[in-house]
Amino acid sequence: MNCNFCERRCDLSDGKLGVCRMYRQEDGAVRERFPLRWSTYMLSRIESLPFYHAYPGSRSMTIGTLGCNFDCRYCANGFVAKSDPESLLDDLYEFTPRELVAMAVKRGCHNIVFNVNEPTVSLLSLQQLAKAAAAAEMPMGCLTNAYMTEEATHLMAGIFSFMNISLKGLSAEFCREYLGIADAGPVLRNIRNLAATTHLEITTPVIQSVNDGDIDRIAEFIASVDPKIPWHVFRLLPEHKMKDADYPNVAAIDKALEKSRRLLPYVYFHNFVGSDWVNTLCPHCKTPVIERFSLGCGGDRLSRYHCLGDKCPACGGAINIHGRRTYWNSGEGTA
Ligand code: SF4
Repeated sequence: MNCNFCERRCDLSDGKLGVCRMYRQEDGAVRERFPLRWSTYMLSRIESLPFYHAYPGSRSMTIGTLGCNFDCRYCANGFVAKSDPESLLDDLYEFTPRELVAMAVKRGCHNIVFNVNEPTVSLLSLQQLAKAAAAAEMPMGCLTNAYMTEEATHLMAGIFSFMNISLKGLSAEFCREYLGIADAGPVLRNIRNLAATTHLEITTPVIQSVNDGDIDRIAEFIASVDPKIPWHVFRLLPEHKMKDADYPNVAAIDKALEKSRRLLPYVYFHNFVGSDWVNTLCPHCKTPVIERFSLGCGGDRLSRYHCLGDKCPACGGAINIHGRRTYWNSGEGTA
C-alpha cells in the first residue's frame, strides 16, 4: 500500500515507513504514527511568519509537529524536521484539538499557523484541529513546500484558508541536489490549483550561487498564475548540511528584484536588518499603503496601515488583503 499524501507516494506495506516517517499502514488505511502530538506552540506576529497580506497586524498561535518529506541541505529546522521522530517523542506536547484552540483563544490569538515543519506529514491531525478551530471561528494558515498530491491539495485547502508556499527553485538539478526531490513540477501544479481557492503568498529562500539565477523565471511563473500573489524573497542563512556556505549578497539580489517588480506589484525582500523592501506600495499609484519594520531574522511587524477597506487612500485602487486588519492586542481571549 502506498501513501497518497505527497508525490513521493511511499510504499508503506509490511511495516515500512516512508521518507517522512510520520505515517504507517494499518487495516488497509494510512494512519499517523504520532497523532495529535505537537513539537511547538508559541505566539508570533503574523508578519514574522511571514504573511504580509493575510490578517495584517494579527497575533498567531504557531504550531508544528515533526518530520518532513523534503531533504533540504540548508534546512533551518533540521532538528525537528529531519531527526528520527521516535527519538523526540518525549519532547512532544499532547493536546487535543479543543485544548489547542482554547489555548489560542485564551492567549488572544486571531489565527493558528502551522509553520515549523511540513504540514503534509501531519494532515490527519490538522484536519481534526481545523474542525475545532472552525467552531471557534479561528482561521488556519500554514507554510508548506506544496509537494502534496492533487488529492491532498484538496484536503489542505479544506484545512487552511491561507498558505505561504515555499517555491525554492525551478531547475531539476537544484531540486535533486538541494531538496532531494525529482523536480518542481508538482509544486508548480499545486500553486496553480490552490491559487483558485486559497489566499497564497510565495516565499523563495535565496542561496548565493545556487538558486539566485532562478529569480527571473520564478517571478515570471508567479505572474503567469496571478500577479497579485505576494512574493517574499528571503535571504537564506544556510544551516544543516550547508553551515559553511556564503551568505547571499544583498546588493545583487536587490538589483535582480527591481526587474521582478515590473511583473509583480507585491515583491518583498527580507531577513536582513534595515530592508526597505518590507513595505507595500499601491500597485496603481505607488503610494505606501502598509508600512512594516524588519529586524531581520523573522522579526517583522506592521507599523502603519493606510489601506482600510483594502483600498489605497490616495487613488482608491484595490489592495490584495485576505481577512481584516487586526490589532495585536485586540484578541477575544483573556490574555
Ligand atoms: S507524506 Fe510521508 S509517507 Fe506519505 S508519501 Fe510523503 S514522504 Fe511518503
